[in-house]
Amino acid sequence: MPRLPWRVAKLVEIRQETATARTLVFQIPGWPGHLAGQHVDVRLTAPDGYSTERSYSVAAPEQGDRVELTVELVPDGEVSPYLLEILEVGDEVEIRGPVGGWFVWRPDHTTPVLLVAGGSGVVPLMAMIRARRAAGSSAPFRLIYSVREPDQRFYLDELANPDPGLDIAYLFTRKTPDGWARPPGRITQADLTGASTDIDSYVCGPTGFVEAAADHLIALGHAPDRIRTERFGPTGG
Ligand SMILES: Cc1cc2nc3c(=O)[nH]c(=O)nc-3n(C[C@H](O)[C@H](O)[C@H](O)COP(=O)(O)OP(=O)(O)OC[C@H]3O[C@@H](n4cnc5c(N)ncnc54)[C@H](O)[C@@H]3O)c2cc1C
Repeated sequence: MPRLPWRVAKLVEIRQETATARTLVFQIPGWPGHLAGQHVDVRLTAPDGYSTERSYSVAAPEQGDRVELTVELVPDGEVSPYLLEILEVGDEVEIRGPVGGWFVWRPDHTTPVLLVAGGSGVVPLMAMIRARRAAGSSAPFRLIYSVREPDQRFYLDELANPDPGLDIAYLFTRKTPDGWARPPGRITQADLTGASTDIDSYVCGPTGFVEAAADHLIALGHAPDRIRTERFGPTGG
């Protein structure tokens, strides 16, 4: 397969999601389009020629030459602080993609879907939720979204009024809103118990979260080949 070309991507819009995360909208002439769930590689090149790249999931379905990413700050990181604190509207980076063909949701899928997100792992799952809305799909969707604290949730306003047929449950691992019934803690089998195992699951987040959630689903009787996973480990070099 031919290697994907690097394309010049101009930052055209910034949206603050949380204190430490932003959505960056890039305009990429010649962008070939993408599916919800895919990711891109972002490459930064310094004036002395040193370059480095990282992977980021697309946060929204295809919209012409616009590609949205949501980046969470890794405080001692090399690329995420640059994208969040230095890059300004009008600046350019290079982007290559789309990458990945397995962790995708297509709008013609009618099977019920379970989305399980840990932290910034919600990004490709949000692309699926938005793709479902854009397509007018009525496939039942359920999002289980685990974060440390309430104010670390991405897309809070948009998810406050879920689309018909989209059910959302938040899990908090360190601090809950006042009066929240579930005590803070990591995802358990009970959090994933649902009526049916005849569903397709998409699990995304840090490696440990993904492995724990996938193990719980298998223990609950979900077929391993219907559990799609994406691990947000360190990337690039
Ligand atoms: C397929 C894929 C999709 C991804 N999509 C997104 C996305 O949509 N949004 C997003 O914010 N990130 C995403 N990531 C993670 C992203 O690629 C970078 O790893 C992250 O932004 C940190 O890069 P950095 O250069 O700032 O940190 P680095 O300089 O690479 O690392 C600094 C320190 O942090 C540790 N570290 C690096 N990355 C992580 C991590 N993800 N979790 C925990 N510790 C880490 C490193 O081991 C190192 O100690 C994705 C990763 C993959 C593999």
